[in-house]
Amino acid sequence: MFEHERHELVETIKSKGINNEAVLNAVNTVERHLFVEDAMKYHAYKDVALPIGFGQTISQPFTVAYMSQALNLGKGSKVLEIGTGSGYQAAILEKMGMRVFSIERNDKLYNRALKIFDYLGIRVAVRLGDGTIGWEEYAPYDGIIVTAGSPDVPERLKRQLAVGGRMVIPVGDKNSQTMKVLTKKDEENFIVTDSPQFKFVPLIGKEGWKER
Ligand code: SAM
Repeated sequence: MFEHERHELVETIKSKGINNEAVLNAVNTVERHLFVEDAMKYHAYKDVALPIGFGQTISQPFTVAYMSQALNLGKGSKVLEIGTGSGYQAAILEKMGMRVFSIERNDKLYNRALKIFDYLGIRVAVRLGDGTIGWEEYAPYDGIIVTAGSPDVPERLKRQLAVGGRMVIPVGDKNSQTMKVLTKKDEENFIVTDSPQFKFVPLIGKEGWKER
């Protein structure tokens, strides 16, 4: 179902600069309409963010592809995602052959994601909790991807990144963020690049925004 629409979506994100074959193949394969509510499924292959309930969103496909490409990791790499949400981003990374760990703070979204992963046979380890403190047990990670907007880069996530690993995280105020890509050179030093103009729901937690 929706094969043609998925193919069109791949062409759209290609035209916006995504050229990593593994990312394009994953977007062409993962059925985004299964990660949104039924009422939204006819919009699932538009390049837009969509509501998933509880004031949260499934990110725009271009943004998912951009962050997946920015991780610059191959098959078998271990990745930690903060903000499981619908589960779509985690499914894309799993389809790219990564070992994915993902944390969600909202119990309803966490349970919904568990169900969809189970239904589709997607192997992602999911945890309910505050992702700003990471998931120490499986650290260090080759990649960390934060899919909610943060006021700063959480220190504990920096520590849980492997030397040589990459973290992709939107940092800014609540209205707009810069996508930061951090490459860990050694325990103390990171190379950081910035791309402006992204907009995410807030990262809420100990090393994020305070809950209101
Ligand atoms: N990656 C998701 C997807 O593919 O659908 C989109 C994520 S949505 C833009 C952001 C998610 O981050 C929301 O589900 C929100 O509940 C979650 N979130 C916010 N703060 C969090 C935290 N400290 N730890 C874990 N999840 C968090």
